[in-house]
Parts: sequence; structure tokens; C-alpha cells
Amino acid sequence: MSRVYTLDDLPMADFAVIGDPVRHSKSPAMHHAAYDALGLPYRYVAVHVAPGRVAEALERMREMGYRGVNVTVPHKAEALAWASQPDSLASRIGAANTLDLRTGRAWNTDAPGFMDTLADLGLRSPYRAVVLGAGGSARALVAALSDEAGVEVAVWNRTRDRAERMVQELAPGAQVLDRPDLTDADLVVNATSTGLSGIELDLDFASTPPDALAYDLAYGSEPTAFERQAASVGRRHTDGRGLLAAQGARAFEHWLGIPAPKAVMLRAIT
Ligand code: NDP
Repeated sequence: MSRVYTLDDLPMADFAVIGDPVRHSKSPAMHHAAYDALGLPYRYVAVHVAPGRVAEALERMREMGYRGVNVTVPHKAEALAWASQPDSLASRIGAANTLDLRTGRAWNTDAPGFMDTLADLGLRSPYRAVVLGAGGSARALVAALSDEAGVEVAVWNRTRDRAERMVQELAPGAQVLDRPDLTDADLVVNATSTGLSGIELDLDFASTPPDALAYDLAYGSEPTAFERQAASVGRRHTDGRGLLAAQGARAFEHWLGIPAPKAVMLRAIT
């Protein structure tokens, strides 16, 4: 685990991830693996920033010569508000996770990064996707999935109102489920924060096709409870490391304009 800095001891660096908490972020190790592989001289650090201080942090980093910043929970909306040139997807989702401090540009790389991982896993439309959750990451995924031709999207959230609002704003064609019904789902995504808590949602993976994919956004040293539920009836499953690498690779490419060494980045976090 790399050292975490604060606004009081900001080091000289080129790139950073900011969050609260940010201690467990694997982004510094992942980006340094990419720099090492390509012989690039950059430094990427993790910085703890409290809510309400994002704009101040970004301005200070910009003055110190930082080029780009990744943004994690809970700062993605504040980061979007700071940006002078947000891209249309980030504006629509209401969250930016990649900033160019020199230009004020901002992107959401979670949404396209997620779709990159589905392509890598061999999922091709048409298919039916059930997304569990309606928080920040679910918004990115639902926007991305609903933009894809041939993908039927259904959403379940513990708080139904929130799922309804999300669908209205981002994906009017998507269905809101009363319960987490997985019938005929080719893709089931766990975008709730139950991932690492061991909480088991009431999911019947046996009602999915045999080649369905169970995708948990969370990741840890062991498979999550959600992955174990899918595995117990023989369904293939994956955790959130692929997404972490894919969104990081897209951030790298926005900042540096050269192809990211994706396999190296994924290896650095597995
Ligand atoms: P948010 O806090 O924004 O949303 C949490 C969601 O989980 C809400 O939909 C909430 O429902 C639901 N939830 C919380 N507790 C329960 C429960 N006991 N039962 C059912 N639903 C519950 O979280 P994020 O969207 O930021 O993150 C979600 C997950 O995705 C986390 O595990 C996070 O680590 C992971 N993630 C991984 C990334 C990666 O790169 N791999 C990137 C981003 C996130 P309600 O609305 O009812 O409160």
C-alpha cells in the first residue's frame, strides 16, 4: 500500500487520485506499473481530501504542476462541478473521475471502461442486463449499457424511488424491478455496496442462462458473496479489478495521448 498524502503535505508529483477514504486505492501502483513498463518518468500519488475541499485541492495541485487527477468516492460530483470542460457523458451521469488540470477537461471513464471489460469478457449484444443498485457507479453503468444497441436493461435497488429517478434521468427505456429478478439475465451486475460486507442479496442465479456472467464491481482478496452465489450454480463470475484497470487505462490515455499498457495495469492489481 502506498503512502497517503493530505493537503497539508502535498508532494511534487504529476498525477494523483483523491478520495475519502483513499488509503486502499490501488491506482498509484497500477499507474506506476504502466510508467515503469513504458519508461515514463511520472509520479502518481494518493491524496486524502475531505468533502467540500475538492476545488481547493484541485487548484492547489494545478498550481504545483500536477497534470491530471483521478477522483474516487465521494468526490466525483464535486470534481464535475470544478471542471470547465466536462464531456457530455460525465455531465449526463453527474460524475467525473478523470480530470486534466491543465485544460479543465473532465471525463467519466467508469462507463466506457465497464463496456471495455464486457467486450474483453466476450459479451456481445443483444443481451439482457440486470443492474443491482442505483448509487454512483450504477449510474455510470446504466448510462453506458442503455446507450448500447441491443441491450435490454433492468434495474433493482433496495430503495425503489432512487432506481426510478435514475432510470428517468439516464435510461428511460430501462425497466425498474420490484425484486432482484434474474430471469433470463445474460449479465448481472452487483453495483451495490454489499460487495465486501458478506451480505447475501436474495438472488436466484439458477434462473439465468447457463452462460450468464455475474459481475461484482467490488473486489478483495477472496471472491465476494455475490460471486460465490453465482459460482454455486456454475455461473461464470468476475470482480471489479477489470473495471479498475479499464477506467485507469482510459484515464492514462486521456492524459498522455498514447496507448496504455492495459495488461501491465491489470497485472499490477491482481
Ligand atoms: P454508493 O454508495 O453510491 O451506492 C450504494 C448502493 O448500494 C445503493 O444502491 C444502495 O442502495 C445499495 N446498498 C447498500 N447497502 C445495501 C444492502 N444492504 N442491500 C442492498 N443494497 C444496498 O456506492 P458506489 O456506487 O460508489 O459503489 C458501489 C460498489 O461498487 C462498491 O462496492 C464499490 O467499491 C464498487 N466500485 C468499484 C469500482 C471499480 O473500479 N471496481 C468503481 C466504483 C465502485 P440504497 O439506494 O437503497 O441505499
